[in-house]
Amino acid sequence: MTLFREQAYIGGEWIDPGPDSHAAIDNPATGETIGHVPQLDADRMDRAIEAAVVRFADWRDTAVAERADRLLAWYRQMLDNREALARLMTAEQGKPIDEARGEVDYAASFLRWFAEEARRTTGATIPPEDPSVSIGTLREPVGVAAVITPWNFPLAMITRKAAAALAAGCTTLVNPARQTPFCALALAVLAEQAGLDRGEFNVVTGSGRQFAERVCADDRVRALSFTGSTEVGRSLLRQAADTVKCTSMELGGNAPFIVCDDVEIDAAVDGAIAAKFQTSGQDCVAANRIYVHRRLYDKFVDRFTTRMNAMTVGNGLDEDTAIGPLINTDAVDKARSLVADAAERGARVLGRDQGDAPGPNYFMPTVVADFTPAMRVSSEESFAPVAPITAFDDDDAVIAAANDTIYGLAAYVYTHRDARIRKFLRGLEYGMVGINTMDITGPHVPFGGVKQSGLGREGAHIGIEEYLETKYYCIGGLDG
Ligand code: NAP
Repeated sequence: MTLFREQAYIGGEWIDPGPDSHAAIDNPATGETIGHVPQLDADRMDRAIEAAVVRFADWRDTAVAERADRLLAWYRQMLDNREALARLMTAEQGKPIDEARGEVDYAASFLRWFAEEARRTTGATIPPEDPSVSIGTLREPVGVAAVITPWNFPLAMITRKAAAALAAGCTTLVNPARQTPFCALALAVLAEQAGLDRGEFNVVTGSGRQFAERVCADDRVRALSFTGSTEVGRSLLRQAADTVKCTSMELGGNAPFIVCDDVEIDAAVDGAIAAKFQTSGQDCVAANRIYVHRRLYDKFVDRFTTRMNAMTVGNGLDEDTAIGPLINTDAVDKARSLVADAAERGARVLGRDQGDAPGPNYFMPTVVADFTPAMRVSSEESFAPVAPITAFDDDDAVIAAANDTIYGLAAYVYTHRDARIRKFLRGLEYGMVGINTMDITGPHVPFGGVKQSGLGREGAHIGIEEYLETKYYCIGGLDG
């Protein structure tokens, strides 16, 4: 069975591109074209919506055990094809192969998790004020759910949404990022094998903008879930307002990573290296601003830079690569301009020469030491292996600095003092806080942000709530 498809997947059928309507997808490490995918026009997108609407009528009434079984079959298919999925991901996204394997596991874990959660979408009975009536709630699927996903986690961002939606009894329309459609189509191949083959799971390739227009204009699509930038999220919220959809938004981040003076410095450096450079820095929960207590600052910068300089930069398919290419040259240009802005405003730029980059899509990892709030690195998400580090003296001041952003996705604090842990937990305006660890994700945790990092939560027990409505009932006439 090949996982590589150059067709969209709609209503259980593989759809070829029309003439002149396919896009080339390139490997960011080599620039080679991997293949082509259909750019579906508005008419085909409307047909996809129709397929999901038709199938919803049956899927919502499919026994919950059967829905769960299909998700579990899909989960097993993913694990059985782990290496092929990982290699495909590295080829189209660029991330190091071992991280790609980890993402396959992570993505699959949502299928199992929500298969289990499907059975727990229970309603409630409510003690009535009038004993002659019976009152309660039913949990019902919202309806057709449209899903728009980014390129940095091309499998997991899909399964984290689609598994919850399918478990709830919704059918799904997935529009994958333009750069990484092949992972989404590989998921569709496996979904088909798992019996999700009649329009429950549709992969609608083509422009995200056009997809958003079609689904937002259609009243029958009842939910819109998006992971991507805050800028696009704002625009989608405006568009979704026209048909008052249920929306969930996982948007940008600007994660602070705070190292207090009571910790063992090497553990903090380990955590900061992982939090900064996973996915080559292209991660919404990546450490974007590192604050280190002045007593440890010089030593921390030194050890962090030494560790960073030892990381292998190259094609993600090489097993020893730690940092792969960025997604495109625009991302490299942005990283360059952030570092140049910081240097002009007085930061120290540390790391290897950019001339050593192995290709046009690479950015050599760089420390921006002594950053200040006036620098763009402080307020903008770099989405690159750029590590701004600065010193702090006072816990209250560093909490204020950490919160001085429109974002509120993830934050990390390294300290072992109980009182400090409580203070940071209370003070940080973030949806997720890691204390003495950067390893904070998994299917069992509620992933999401506050402020302009988003609305709603994915994963955990509450992740399925985004796809459920509550219907209240009141039955009278029971006394005769
Ligand atoms: P993006 O530019 O917002 O694009 C994400 C998706 O939105 C793509 O599929 C894209 O489709 C689509 N899109 C772009 N413009 C659109 C429009 N006007 N209307 C509707 N859809 C549109 O983000 P990205 O560069 O791919 O991903 C990076 C961002 O995602 C970062 O800010 C990161 O923090 C955030 N992110 C957040 C999370 C989280 O869980 N909170 C997770 C991962 C990433 P096309 O490809 O067709 O343009």
